[in-house]
Amino acid sequence: MSSKTGAKAENVSPLRKRVPCPNCGSKSARESYPFCSKRCSDLDLGKWLDGSYAIATEEPGSGFSEDEY
Ligand SMILES: [Zn+2]
Repeated sequence: MSSKTGAKAENVSPLRKRVPCPNCGSKSARESYPFCSKRCSDLDLGKWLDGSYAIATEEPGSGFSEDEY
């Protein structure tokens, strides 16, 4: 068996694939990839910040035992 393990690499996809804006679905622009505009980019960033705000509330010493008298 002469093995030709994928010598041809024709299906090389470009690094930056054109994807619709995650926020509104419009065509993405180079300047604000993968968003269509900076406005959508900022809006999405705001969502992330809002989400991280809830996750960031993690108390390390939650197993504090109170002294009972
Ligand atoms: Zn958009």
